[in-house]
Amino acid sequence: MRSAIVLGAGMAGMGTALHLQQRGWSVVLVDRGEPGRETSYGNAGIIQSEAVEPYAMPRDRATLWAIATGRSNDVHYELRHLPRHLGPLLRYWWHSSPRRHAAASRAYATLIAQAAPEHAALIEAAGTADLVRRTGFRILHRGQRAMDAAAADAERLGARHGLRVRTLSPAELAAAEPALKQAGAGAIHWEDPWSVRDPGALVSAYAALFVRRGGTLLRGEADSLAPTRRGWSVRSADGTVEAEAGVVALGPWSPAALRRFGYRIAMVEKRGYHRHWRSARTLEAPLLDAENGYVLAPMAAGLRVTTGAELASPEAATGPVQLARAEAAARDLLDLGAPRENAPWSGIRPCMPDMLPVVGPAPRHRGLWFQFGHGHQGFTLGPASGRLLAEAMSGETPFVPEAPFGPARLAAA
Ligand SMILES: Cc1cc2nc3c(=O)[nH]c(=O)nc-3n(C[C@H](O)[C@H](O)[C@H](O)COP(=O)(O)OP(=O)(O)OC[C@H]3O[C@@H](n4cnc5c(N)ncnc54)[C@H](O)[C@@H]3O)c2cc1C
Repeated sequence: MRSAIVLGAGMAGMGTALHLQQRGWSVVLVDRGEPGRETSYGNAGIIQSEAVEPYAMPRDRATLWAIATGRSNDVHYELRHLPRHLGPLLRYWWHSSPRRHAAASRAYATLIAQAAPEHAALIEAAGTADLVRRTGFRILHRGQRAMDAAAADAERLGARHGLRVRTLSPAELAAAEPALKQAGAGAIHWEDPWSVRDPGALVSAYAALFVRRGGTLLRGEADSLAPTRRGWSVRSADGTVEAEAGVVALGPWSPAALRRFGYRIAMVEKRGYHRHWRSARTLEAPLLDAENGYVLAPMAAGLRVTTGAELASPEAATGPVQLARAEAAARDLLDLGAPRENAPWSGIRPCMPDMLPVVGPAPRHRGLWFQFGHGHQGFTLGPASGRLLAEAMSGETPFVPEAPFGPARLAAA
């Protein structure tokens, strides 16, 4: 029986572990904490079938000026921390040209198309349908010009990719979301996405399924990963484990873990924050307040407000500037109530400069595989990219062309 150690029990590692197991591999999943307690816990919980185009770096002058002068809530940066982000940001800029972004989008769309079906199979097997809402995802626009532009864009994307999308007038949005005090200029309603009431609990349910199917879950440190004669080994709380293959699925911690092996991987580390509010009335579907750069996600723990990208210290959260602005903007839309936690959560979106996850064999180490860099949509993509990797490791024909995601491109990125 073929064997693998998967490092990292977030959505990316979990998706891989389950797909390898399904193909007859003996799998040990190793994490230093509980499954799904990091980035895959703290996100907005949207399974984003509509995200057929990855998030490009804005290149128009007006948006860049708004970011530079601190008027945009989509991006916040700390000048003193900018130098360490500069290299990855320059590459991100280069890959965000319309032509390169279109090429990345063609590849991205193939993986996104399989994301919900892969989750559907796992949700059913794990018996967790109660965590999932199938009410779509709405994007509210405060001004008419922005609403008209978004509607035209949504229509184009919807028609090209066969996505269900509706433009809601303010009255239609108010009827759909009675908790809203005002409905701006209306909303784009993407009808295909699903949302999860507790993203960490979904990962835990997948972990329980993995164990029920005979998988082994262990506590261990990625720093102990080492090549052996047979393959790869890792020290765990239960002793050293060895397998023929090792998979690095450590989300934002992947580049640091791979430095020891000589890989210098540029990642755009976009920190995001969340906090829950005890709002008496909640929403039927997650809502992005586009002009104010935050999402209101109805969760089991309350209304979760999630923020955009902060380019600050990757080591430590600096201060939730965007969250404070988001809270003020959200209070015009609904009665938020009191916050549930004393301090916000924060975590880092693991974004690759070319906007595509890294899925495939390590360029210079036999039996080592990469599965990270899922950026803004890793909660959505984990099971689909996990399937792609498991197919490659098993020598099967991959369900989508694997080259655009292959780690070989990192050398040139
Ligand atoms: C605010 C915010 C909102 C988001 N909203 C969405 C959304 O709505 N939809 C969506 O699809 N995506 C969303 N994302 C992105 C998504 O959350 C991430 O892309 C995804 O969770 C990454 O998953 P991962 O498994 O790669 O990483 P993680 O979930 O971070 O998992 C990595 C694992 O590695 C483990 N680990 C790290 N270092 C070590 C070590 N040294 N030894 C052992 N184990 C280690 C960690 O404990 C962790 O369990 C959002 C992200 C943020 C920050």
